[in-house]
Amino acid sequence: MADASLDIEEILKDAHLPALLTALVHMTGDAGWLRSEWTPVYNPLSRGDTGIPDEEQARIRKLAAEAIRAHLDGKPLAMPGPDVATLRRQMDFVAGAPIPEQYVDFLLDELTLNGRSSKDPQFEQPALKAAARKLKVLVVGAGMSGLLTGIRLTQAGVPFEIVDKNADVGGTWFENTYPGCRVDNSNHMYSYSFEPNHFWPQHFSPQPVLLEYFRGIAAKYDLKKHIRFETLVETLAWDEGRSVWRATLKGKDGKTEVVEATAVVTAVGQLNRPRYPEIDGLGSFEGPAFHSAEWRHDVDLKGKRVGVIGTGASAYQFVPEIAPDVASLTVFQRSPPWGLPVPHYHEDVPEGMKWTLEHVPYFDKWYRFWLFWMTTEGFLPMVKSDPNWNGGPDAVGPENAMLREMATQSLQAQIADRPDLAGKVIPQYPIGGKRSVLDNGVWLAALKRPNVSLVTDKTVRITPKGVVTADGTEHEFDVLIYGTGFQASNFLSFLKIKGRGGQDLHESWGGDARAYLGMTHPGFPNLFTIYGPNTNIVVNGSIIFFSECSVRYIVGCLKLLAETGAVALEPKQAVYDDFNRRVDEANAGWAWGAPNVSSWYKNSFGRVSQNWPFGLIDYWKATLAPNPDDFVLARAPEPVSQASS
Ligand code: NAP
Repeated sequence: MADASLDIEEILKDAHLPALLTALVHMTGDAGWLRSEWTPVYNPLSRGDTGIPDEEQARIRKLAAEAIRAHLDGKPLAMPGPDVATLRRQMDFVAGAPIPEQYVDFLLDELTLNGRSSKDPQFEQPALKAAARKLKVLVVGAGMSGLLTGIRLTQAGVPFEIVDKNADVGGTWFENTYPGCRVDNSNHMYSYSFEPNHFWPQHFSPQPVLLEYFRGIAAKYDLKKHIRFETLVETLAWDEGRSVWRATLKGKDGKTEVVEATAVVTAVGQLNRPRYPEIDGLGSFEGPAFHSAEWRHDVDLKGKRVGVIGTGASAYQFVPEIAPDVASLTVFQRSPPWGLPVPHYHEDVPEGMKWTLEHVPYFDKWYRFWLFWMTTEGFLPMVKSDPNWNGGPDAVGPENAMLREMATQSLQAQIADRPDLAGKVIPQYPIGGKRSVLDNGVWLAALKRPNVSLVTDKTVRITPKGVVTADGTEHEFDVLIYGTGFQASNFLSFLKIKGRGGQDLHESWGGDARAYLGMTHPGFPNLFTIYGPNTNIVVNGSIIFFSECSVRYIVGCLKLLAETGAVALEPKQAVYDDFNRRVDEANAGWAWGAPNVSSWYKNSFGRVSQNWPFGLIDYWKATLAPNPDDFVLARAPEPVSQASS
């Protein structure tokens, strides 16, 4: 029963209108809510603008409030499961443009209107269940991907253990506690597809909120009983005779223990080992010096002279936070970040929006769908390289040049009063070449503060007093902060992995990590890497989507073992080689693959070892289920006959 004092019409002023209109179809059974003149504008930077005149919006809210009140008073949904044609109309309406046919199945799966998706483990048959129980999976990492793996393995009935070096779950959201740390993907999409949170406080919530979300997930799915904290997996060795991985674990007390598992899943992310610059004198600074991912909360920055090296996504978040408190702040920049205008980056989710997400059936699903579709393809055409482009190295094609122009104008407008900054803060590489940051003005406002200076001379040496730049100046500080990123292309650097025949994974990579679909490796049976080589995304989607697809595929591989009675699988060398050839070819066709761009997406060979160069739909399709033909399946050796002589 709806609370009679609730002013639903008023509440709905905060609701996302396209998602509301679409949700009303379920409530009322009337597809007339999807009028073509009410279709929102398709634009990845829009917030669902519809252009519906104010009076018309008020009329919609009045009618919607009546329908919602009736529903809350017990009226059943008129159309909980629309027919295919209506669903199609709903999708096209929310998207703001007709969705190409090839995306429909993919998007319907992502929408999970009936609560089920291809990502749910399919281990229903009793024989499979029995086989699943005989497996044992070791999961390395209890962050977003590791917890997800635990949930899916629980659902599949596969025994598992999770090991994490940290004292709690959350991974990157546990480790990165620097001031201003927040998610840069819309939160209503940066959450598990099956675990929406209707109460995100902000559209891009701060780190403590994200950590709480993952803690809540661990509690809800009772995962902690499976997790060993403060334990490092140091080595993995494949025992070929018994088809098991032997893992050496080292606890906080320094003691080691060997455990065995039929399969290992690494879920450690790409951005978990801080990178310090290769610079003379590193370590010689006599004051506190720390990395953004190892923030020293015991160091009070108030009134201090602070130096920050780096202007990537992390510095972009913490510099505006600390700038007002410090006596002086010197930011050393090698290359400036591209910012995409996102005015609501720090805004709260309005209370009415939270209410609607919680109380209006299907509204949350259609809102997520809208966010998802806007970023599925959204920016991709704008960062595509055009082989015929001859407009200069600052862009890779005409659409990229247009985006560059738009972003440049936004930056220029912010520094109209500081022309001296123009040569420093407007990037000279193509937009999309590196991770773009979300710009609501706080970054440049911080750089314009009287106590902040932006130094673009090369940093050449760290000294006990500070940083020396190429012009010979020694910049003196009380505190030095490294915002210099992570050893991203140095995959699994903490882990020694010996596969079939004793081959070493890192030696086989030779510093150039590769995998099949980011997950499997020839010569390393039953080893699965989540967020492995070439599974990072630059401008589209959320990495949670990738992890969900990866885990579906990995659970599919376990199912393949259970179905076939095989004890191990690994990808065929030819399949792996062909995949990596296609990946390299495709990566060259994007801004991040441009020869004049250097970033953490490329390894020391200049190869893009991080990024997925295809669409989200391609990863979704490729990971629906493993193709048995891609793998070498190994049987258990025949037991040695004990025949008497
Ligand atoms: P990053 O993007 O790799 O940035 C490192 C910065 O350090 C760059 O500006 C780099 O310059 C600079 N640098 C490195 N060595 C230097 C030197 N010797 N002298 C001067 N500058 C130097 O690292 P990050 O900011 O930690 O971000 C890494 C990734 O983490 C992001 O791309 C993003 O995917 C993720 N992240 C996400 C969020 C979020 O979702 N909210 C927040 C933070 C990070 P160059 O650009 O010239 O190399």
